Amino acid sequence: MLLDNSSEQFRVPNVIALVGLPARGKTYISHKLYRYLNWIGIEAKAFKVGEYRRKACNLEEYDEYEFFSPNNARCQKIRDEVAQLAIDNMRKYLANKEGEVVDLDATQSDARPTIPCLLVESVCDDPDIINSNITEVKINSPDYKGIMSQEEAKEDFLKRIENYRMQYEPLDEDYDEELSYIKVINAGKSFYVHNVNGHVQSRVVYFLMNIHLLPRSIYLSRHGESDVNGLLYAGKLREYFEAEDLDDFRVWSSQKIRAAQTASHLKDLTGHTEFWKCLDEIDAGMCEGLTYEDFKARYPKQFAERDKDKYHYRYPSGESYEDLVARLEPVIMELERQSNVLVISHQAVLRCILAHFTNKNRDDLPYLKVPLHTTIKLTPKAYSCEVELFPFPIKADTYREKPDQKQ
Ligand code: ATP
Repeated sequence: MLLDNSSEQFRVPNVIALVGLPARGKTYISHKLYRYLNWIGIEAKAFKVGEYRRKACNLEEYDEYEFFSPNNARCQKIRDEVAQLAIDNMRKYLANKEGEVVDLDATQSDARPTIPCLLVESVCDDPDIINSNITEVKINSPDYKGIMSQEEAKEDFLKRIENYRMQYEPLDEDYDEELSYIKVINAGKSFYVHNVNGHVQSRVVYFLMNIHLLPRSIYLSRHGESDVNGLLYAGKLREYFEAEDLDDFRVWSSQKIRAAQTASHLKDLTGHTEFWKCLDEIDAGMCEGLTYEDFKARYPKQFAERDKDKYHYRYPSGESYEDLVARLEPVIMELERQSNVLVISHQAVLRCILAHFTNKNRDDLPYLKVPLHTTIKLTPKAYSCEVELFPFPIKADTYREKPDQKQ
């Protein structure tokens, strides 16, 4: 059994299966979920039945929407086989302990009877959401791109949805009484949560209840470097946000003086400036205030330890990047809920936030570039996050390369 309700509940293998009609955001949710789980330190992997299908069928054989018809026995067989292959690979992944959680982007409801899991069903009957999902995402999928026109692709996709609808069985309060599931209704307008078990499942449910689809951007900035260029930077930042002219714009700053000073220059552009203790820089403990050179000279062993595994290295009496991620989880959750937010903080903190939105692993996270006097703009897209850097011409930086990247 893959889902274990025993006392090992804290870190047992879990399967999260996404189900719902096409264009209901299953892949979108799956991407966000596995990115979040990996970021909080729960090794997760997504298995996408749609990708298995594309690999299994060469495009000449692919019969457009007819491929998804419940009356097409040959194609139904292929679809069953690819779903089974994804499930088999997922079982192997868990059995070999390669990770703890899998996220099965199942597309159809055949995951339901065969795998004990937390089901996430996306239910959407809002035609505007479905239409924009099709025109913005689906017609550009590998199923259609370069194969037919956008109008033909849209028509074909609508017929595909109808073919699925004929065989799709929504989760049912009575019939599915024993199952664990969450129904996400109309992109998070409402939820129905049933029989949720254990730590991982409740975190998943909490996360899903916080994400939203409204377009927005998140901006990351370090505070100005020194008294003089800090003021110059704050002025440039102000000009930048005046030009951005954002609705419902929030500024969150750490409680450290330089960050708070940078934030104070933007006060009248936002009705919401908040100072978060958990945005304060990594606590370097005994090494607080030392330059890299001083650190290396005074504590050569510690310095070498840190280079070996920078993510897990904890400064004596201080913090590690891993500690920082745990402290930043409430910030990430709140960022998921909000619209346009500028976060003014410090290098290590911003690396952690950037890694979450850009899906960077733990080895790379502590080396991400977060240059001084630069605004990083993150704009969530369907399956990824667009990253734009806006450097302002004020000289300074303290970046140190990953050791094995040095010449
Ligand atoms: P398919 O079954 O064809 O693979 P899918 O259900 O995986 O479709 P996605 O490819 O994830 O659908 O669709 C992406 C779009 O869904 C994005 O534009 C995203 O904004 C939107 N979306 C995300 N979450 C939801 C949701 N809960 N309900 C409806 N749409 C959503």
